[in-house]
Amino acid sequence: MTPLTLTMQGMENLNDSTVNISFKVDSEQPFVVIAGQFLRLHFTQDDGFETFRSYSIANIFPEEKSLLDEVAIAVSWVPGGLATEYLSNMQVGEQLEATGPYGRFCLLPDRHERYFLIATGTGVTPYRAMLKEIELRLQTGSEFYVVMGAQDETGLLYEADFVALESQYDHFHYVPCLSRKTRIQPGVNDHNGYVQSYLTQHDFDAENDIAYLCGNPNMVDATFNLLKEKGMPVPLIKREKYISPAPRKK
Ligand SMILES: Cc1cc2nc3c(=O)[nH]c(=O)nc-3n(C[C@H](O)[C@H](O)[C@H](O)COP(=O)(O)OP(=O)(O)OC[C@H]3O[C@@H](n4cnc5c(N)ncnc54)[C@H](O)[C@@H]3O)c2cc1C
Repeated sequence: MTPLTLTMQGMENLNDSTVNISFKVDSEQPFVVIAGQFLRLHFTQDDGFETFRSYSIANIFPEEKSLLDEVAIAVSWVPGGLATEYLSNMQVGEQLEATGPYGRFCLLPDRHERYFLIATGTGVTPYRAMLKEIELRLQTGSEFYVVMGAQDETGLLYEADFVALESQYDHFHYVPCLSRKTRIQPGVNDHNGYVQSYLTQHDFDAENDIAYLCGNPNMVDATFNLLKEKGMPVPLIKREKYISPAPRKK
């Protein structure tokens, strides 16, 4: 795959440990992406080996499949992390090599009656990318739940975008699940506890529901097991785990 060149355009804090970084994309081929896909950013390890880290594209796509000349990613800092070290010191105008887009964590062409889009942390970004397509599906009668897990309200990344859609469609539900600290003024759908404890309250319909799980690998595994126990067929539980690749050895 021909590498892309990303030129950093800006970085803004989403909270104390997460930033939104925007890049201009230069690509020899048209950079066509489906909402939900990710990029691999290329880095060099201390031992000189090339390595990569993956980041979901966080922009709200104009259409489900879009030609992009800019991308945004949300990066959660990991103390001592290789990409964290590099990206946190990056200045506007600096360049980085990347490849992509990759991934199949996208809305399937088949329509489902109910969609459960479940995330923790930056795992919510693929759903932000999908917002326009979600709206089209809401207009043809599908119901959506975005179930967002965080320790406290500062972890509810891009909340305003989901709340805005909820204010327009009564069959779009944004459900913040706060595991450590509730809000002083809770939202109507706020749930105390992990996403799993919210989902135990639901019955699932194996014929008409589909679930997407993205973010912390422990959440993805625990929720996958829960949904399976509740009768969801495995092919209808889509998963994207945010893990780092093992370091390459000489
Ligand atoms: C498909 C895919 C999409 C991804 N999308 C995103 C995204 O949109 N935003 C995002 O922030 N990340 C995303 N990730 C994770 C990202 O690729 C990196 O793994 C992450 O940013 C850490 O990279 P690092 O180089 O800073 O830390 P590393 O050098 O990889 O890790 C340093 C140490 O911290 C541990 N560690 C790594 N991640 C975590 C963590 N989250 N919590 C605690 N310890 C950790 C490692 O095991 C290692 O011991 C995605 C991963 C995948 C596979």
